[in-house]
Amino acid sequence: MKNKKTIWIILITIFILAIIGFAIYSFIVSSAEKLTYQQFEELLKQNSIVNSSLEEKIVNGVHVISGSYNKDGSLHRFVVGINNQQYSNLLEDPIFKDIVGRIITNQELVSPIWTLVQSLLPIVIMIGAYVWIFSMMTKGGMGGGMLGGKNQRPRQIKSDVKFSDVAGINEEKTELVELVDYLKNPNKYAMMGARVPKGVLMEGPPGTGKTLLAKAVAGEANVAFFTMAGSEFEEMFVGLGASRVRDLFNDAKKAAPCIIFIDEIDAVGRKRNTAMGSATNEQTLNQLLVEMDGFGSNSGVIVMGATNRVDVLDPALLRPGRFDRTIQISLPDIREREAILKLHARNKSVSPEIEWKRIAERTPGFSGAQLENVLNEAAILVVRNKRKMITLGDIDEAIDRVVGGPAKKSRAMTVQDKKVVSYHEAGHALIGLKLDSASKVQKVTIIPRGNAGGYTIMTPKDESNFSSKEDLFASIAGYLGGRAAEELMFGKDKITTGAHDDLDKATNIARRMVTQFGMSTLGLTKYLTMQEEAYGQTKGVYSDEIAYKIDTEINTILDNCYITARELISKNLDLLELIAESLRVLETITAEQIEYINKYSKLPDEVIKEKERMEKEEKKKNAGEILEFEPDEDEKK
Ligand code: ADP
Ligand code: MG
Ligand code: ZN
Repeated sequence: MKNKKTIWIILITIFILAIIGFAIYSFIVSSAEKLTYQQFEELLKQNSIVNSSLEEKIVNGVHVISGSYNKDGSLHRFVVGINNQQYSNLLEDPIFKDIVGRIITNQELVSPIWTLVQSLLPIVIMIGAYVWIFSMMTKGGMGGGMLGGKNQRPRQIKSDVKFSDVAGINEEKTELVELVDYLKNPNKYAMMGARVPKGVLMEGPPGTGKTLLAKAVAGEANVAFFTMAGSEFEEMFVGLGASRVRDLFNDAKKAAPCIIFIDEIDAVGRKRNTAMGSATNEQTLNQLLVEMDGFGSNSGVIVMGATNRVDVLDPALLRPGRFDRTIQISLPDIREREAILKLHARNKSVSPEIEWKRIAERTPGFSGAQLENVLNEAAILVVRNKRKMITLGDIDEAIDRVVGGPAKKSRAMTVQDKKVVSYHEAGHALIGLKLDSASKVQKVTIIPRGNAGGYTIMTPKDESNFSSKEDLFASIAGYLGGRAAEELMFGKDKITTGAHDDLDKATNIARRMVTQFGMSTLGLTKYLTMQEEAYGQTKGVYSDEIAYKIDTEINTILDNCYITARELISKNLDLLELIAESLRVLETITAEQIEYINKYSKLPDEVIKEKERMEKEEKKKNAGEILEFEPDEDEKK
């Protein structure tokens, strides 16, 4: 969007400069004094012509000479037309003959047509640029509001998505079944005088299947599906967005029954009169409101909108007769994740060892799109390694890729790095194990990914939608566990920057406890609105004194949680040591392995085995022996 605007600005600047340039050029030309042949001859005789300024053109057989002459100490521009007869007379004049040698005859022998073309060229270029700019303006949209042309129609597609292609979100699907029925037989409803919702707004995080659901409604009802993204209405030229909305609705009405799907509706539907809105937006939004009011509730057109932020939408959009129904779509819970995984595994060959329930457990917070992505990555790995089936290992690797990009196996980790990260991650894991309300540890790894040196995946122990104060304290303590472990193991001065991201997350939770959830000594006042939060603001409309109190309160919460984390770890140093050791050996440990360590207070067998193998190899290397190929070791992998 930004780029597009920059291009526009450059184009318009060029356009304006061209006009100015042309104006100056014509001014100079027209300001030149037109001399008769006699006057020119007179000037020649007086020797007041500035030789170096002379230019000569031949236009229609006439020699046009331009230049400047000196009069009373100042220069004047002139042009003079000389016919062939006069020209040959002039050549006999020794003064002129001298001058002629120096004339810059850049256009000698040019044909008159070429001269004509030349004089017309700037105008042609200007007209060309003009036409081009306006054709650009109407491209990418559906109607040239300014030129009246329609270069591009709204995108009408035939959807073959069915409800069975959408996993989970069952209640939401049920709500939409009615719409499908309506689209199939609008007359039935019209006869009964039943009013069907005109607009359905779907709200939910990205990748939760909003677009998919809209397509499924169209597919089930077997009607046309018009789709347009909110950002496509955003135009630099006022009025264009509005005309696009108009065209979209006109086309849809002709194709009824049908669905109009407006994705990212927040791009057009932002509250008016706010800093974020613009005049263009306002016009577009107004047009949208008008259009939605303009068709009867039984015209067979249903508008579906998708957004991840209802709170920024203009309230006018949500009034009855417009988007009068809102469907909330949240990130899938564990059962839904399982269903989505199974659905997308349908067309892939998967090893029977895979239990989707376990995978669903390991992917909390993943959206449908991310889960789909996991399976796709896994399938790619299978193809790359020329295998036949997706294995647990592929899924594991795929999850890690989706979480934080491909593993950086190449980035060498020093022994010291590995040690620090192992204790840091063990710290997180330990809090998860030992603090009742903390989340369950699913996986801990010290393989660096993206910016993180390692990471610990935790899931809430219960599936409740609410977090208690205790839960939030436990989460903060969990985030601070990494730093606490570092401090306890290496001392106050050896702590590292590895906790950067943890501190960020912990501070965020603490801030929301104070400013949004009324969970501090500051009382129940809500200090930051969701919106202010969303725009990254940390200060709302309150006094500096309150701001100071908020900061102090956040600090206190963090300090207390840190103390909790440190105490818990120092009480369980043996456990920390075992987890860290396992991490250094295996690099990644699972929930089961952590449970085992916690239960029996010893290293799991596979860690011991691997450790022995590593020690053996180390000894061999030190003894200078040649490493031999060991078939049984390789087979194990
Ligand atoms: P949104 O519009 O909410 O951002 P999409 O509908 O574009 O998300 O979802 C992107 C992709 O993710 C879909 O094409 C589909 O493959 C997958 N997906 C998301 N949610 C689901 C779901 N509930 N069931 C099956 N697939 C899903
Ligand atoms: Mg979408
Ligand atoms: Zn950490």
